[in-house]
Amino acid sequence: MTLELKMLINGRWVEAAGGRYMDVSNPATGEVIARVPEGGVEDVQVTVQAAKEAFDDGRWSGLSPGERAAVLWKWADLLEANSEKLVELECRNTGKPVKLARDSDIPFAIDNLRFFAGAARTLEGRAATEYTGVHTSIIRREPVGVVASISPWNYPFLMAAWKLGPALAAGNTVVIKPASLTPLTTIEMARLAREAGLPDGVLNVVTGPGQVVGEALVTHPDVAMVSLTGDTRTGRAIMSLASASLKRLHLELGGKAPFIVFADADLAAAAQGAVVGGYVNTGQDCTAATRIYVQEEVFERFMELFLERVQAIRVGDPFRPDTDMGPLISPAQVERVAGFVDRARAAGARVLTGGGRPDRPELAAGAYYLPTVITDATDDSEVVQEEIFGPVVVVLPFRTEEEVVARANNVKYGLASSVWTGDVYKAMNVSRKLRFGAVWINDHLPLSSEMPHGGYKQSGFGKDLSLYALEEYTSVKHVMADLTGQVKRPWHYTVFGEPED
Ligand code: NDP
Repeated sequence: MTLELKMLINGRWVEAAGGRYMDVSNPATGEVIARVPEGGVEDVQVTVQAAKEAFDDGRWSGLSPGERAAVLWKWADLLEANSEKLVELECRNTGKPVKLARDSDIPFAIDNLRFFAGAARTLEGRAATEYTGVHTSIIRREPVGVVASISPWNYPFLMAAWKLGPALAAGNTVVIKPASLTPLTTIEMARLAREAGLPDGVLNVVTGPGQVVGEALVTHPDVAMVSLTGDTRTGRAIMSLASASLKRLHLELGGKAPFIVFADADLAAAAQGAVVGGYVNTGQDCTAATRIYVQEEVFERFMELFLERVQAIRVGDPFRPDTDMGPLISPAQVERVAGFVDRARAAGARVLTGGGRPDRPELAAGAYYLPTVITDATDDSEVVQEEIFGPVVVVLPFRTEEEVVARANNVKYGLASSVWTGDVYKAMNVSRKLRFGAVWINDHLPLSSEMPHGGYKQSGFGKDLSLYALEEYTSVKHVMADLTGQVKRPWHYTVFGEPED
């Protein structure tokens, strides 16, 4: 059955002004599973106008934080009550294993929304005082206005929650543009937000191509802020487009996480962590452990433990309860990943396992690619420097702490990293020196609603999750009130008149 879905604009479910639709496919089978409107510039104009009106009349920002929190909390409850449907939609649309969506993405996203519902009530400026002696200063944290959220296809539901939670909690109105490959759960989220009582125009969903709908949002004068999770190149394009109107940006971009295993680490735990960190979501994760550095003296032992586990990854139908790894998001992504591996081979790297599509007829119609391990790649090679976004991990030996820190930092990205060692001094010193927005010690991947997530360098800027994210979606205002009531203040003469006047 093909779903026929619409966009949510100003509280109404509508087709695109141009009447066009886009197909949405299941990457595990290649089947078309839904049609969504192919929005255009005209749709963006109408939506931003509605979001601006909804912001300006205070129907959302004018509620008390407690009232906003109650709506967001009800929304989270409705999402939880509809989890089964959301899991089904997310897995059919992305091909991710059902256990990942059911027990990780969806419940974590709901927890994130509950965190932001509570956090809505904590917004405050710093304590007021009289810094000049004769004025009371007050700091207000206010919503920025209309926020455009542009989300990716790797974690559609989770990324929508990361963007909508803090933006709405802070009192903004939002236009979200989901990735064209994966709009289904975002539309369902919006349906449930309305059921929870979110007023018209506060949350709008416009589907359509990034280069049309995304760019129209980024260049619209009434959009105050753009939040993107996606490719570093898309981040650059958006930054350049947004410069004309000097918009605030929040960019969560690519990654190339190092995973550093010292000789004194628990090697079984490191090998297990490398499989989980490297192949999560078929490697389509910006924090994925894609560069494994292993100290020379334990390299061989680590490789044995690692390869044994990589070869045990169960690749297959996302809806089988025991599937560890589903397909990639699309045939184009398979081509992209295969291109990286083929070029690495041609440049002299060795592919120890994987390196192709599975030879299983039942998976032939899906966008599958085997878990792949590469060694003997040089530090400046493409597979060590660039985000592949597929199930491809490169393992590299190292000798000293100083050397591995320099090599780990020697990429343009700076999102996530991990260090594996039994030595607390080494762990803390290396954590300090790594130029990444996150460092895990003896683990890789876990996040929590309360703690920030975001990059250094070309992985972008602005934090997701935590109170830091809430602050990203607010503006700071200084209100300064005179306490003297005098007509002429002692300092006025510097502009007008004489000191003794
Ligand atoms: P994109 O960065 O192109 O897509 C992310 C979002 O940006 C989508 O909603 C997309 O819309 C939108 N978009 C694309 N171009 C523009 C634009 N010019 N202006 C405004 N919005 C735009 O990622 P891709 O889907 O093309 O994936 C390519 C690569 O990006 C991946 O292989 C991976 O390396 C990386 N990536 C990284 C992610 C991360 O979390 N770090 C997430 C996703 C991808 P539409 O879907 O309609 O094109």
